[in-house]
Amino acid sequence: MKHLALGLKRLRETHLYRRPRVLESPQGARPLVDGRRMLAFCSNDYLGLANHPQVIAALKRGADAYGVGSGAAHLVTGHSAAHQALEEELADFTKRPRALLFSTGYMANVGVISALAGRGDQVFEDRLNHASLLDGALLSRARLRRYAHADPQALSGMLEGQLSEECNARLIATDGVFSMDGDLAPLPDLACVAERTGAWLLVDDAHGLGVLGEEGRGSLDHMGLEQAEVPILVGTLGKAFGTSGAFVAGGEELIETLIQRARSYIYTTAPPPAIAEATRESLRIARRESWRRERLRELIRRFRVGAAALGLPLMDSGTPIQPLVAGTAEQALSWSRSLEAQGILVSAIRPPTVPEGSARLRITFSAVHDERDVDRLLDALARLRCHLPQAEMAAAL
Ligand SMILES: *Cc1c(COP(=O)(O)O)cnc(C)c1O
Repeated sequence: MKHLALGLKRLRETHLYRRPRVLESPQGARPLVDGRRMLAFCSNDYLGLANHPQVIAALKRGADAYGVGSGAAHLVTGHSAAHQALEEELADFTKRPRALLFSTGYMANVGVISALAGRGDQVFEDRLNHASLLDGALLSRARLRRYAHADPQALSGMLEGQLSEECNARLIATDGVFSMDGDLAPLPDLACVAERTGAWLLVDDAHGLGVLGEEGRGSLDHMGLEQAEVPILVGTLGKAFGTSGAFVAGGEELIETLIQRARSYIYTTAPPPAIAEATRESLRIARRESWRRERLRELIRRFRVGAAALGLPLMDSGTPIQPLVAGTAEQALSWSRSLEAQGILVSAIRPPTVPEGSARLRITFSAVHDERDVDRLLDALARLRCHLPQAEMAAAL
């Protein structure tokens, strides 16, 4: 095991070592973290539903009705009426014929890509796609080709380079909202490329659903795209919906194929039915309470105006994900620690989660924040700026 110790030592030396913090409270604007009350801008609980009283009550009712464990895989006896109802409601929400639940977004992506592509096929992915999309392609044994971030022309070049009559499957997969940058994929252009070249398009809208579009229908609704253009939609339930799990939505043949072939659907225990009951409630709230989306938009606007006035290195993002790129892992950690000393929690995101040289603070907003929270964050960032050597800040800018 000596080489493990060496590997860990190297991670520490290069500021890439990670460890989980311990929360002693629910998610919210002010969680209790490692024994300390912090103003936090880290979670993906964008709508503030992870600790909503009605969602908690639904979880308890679900436990009373179904117990805790589902007891088996969906295809054995684990598929409850709660799961079935949630799948139907997710199909209605996404305006697609069918939806299929997975235990996590990671498992949904790995399952769908490896079910649809195999040896001899090709999977095309944005360079900044979520790790689970990349892992799905690796597991599928298809050839994985990564195109420049948000660049439909680069993708088009790759696809047209070898218009194959061999009839092998070609799948394009992209985040809808990029998880570490907060920008939107150029979905209408990607859909055109897919159409022209006969490739399938998969959009993983983990950070768009609940937040963008009418009733929170996500990036596709925001850009006016439907199933004809994007046949495969992946959504997660642990972010804006505040619970846990994921789903794939699409046509009858897609969903039936996944039921027969997606190994991360078949060979795993179904999630607890009570979680499905809680998600049904959070989905209803997310659809109905558009004030949560409006509040988010207002907080994002306030933050961006304030950060621009401070000359902070903002990225081109209109979503609740507002990164400040620091460059080195060491710099990102030092910013994060300075904020922590002021009672503010913002996580430093380092390689390999983001490309080398683009370590950053990933600031996220939630409908549970208010204007004063944003102002406190801006004050703290201003102070951080004063304490930075000129050269470093100039480099960051
Ligand atoms: C978080 C995330 C996932 C994984 O979802 P989990 O339910 O947390 O496993 C997949 N794709 C994207 C883009 C994500 O941000």
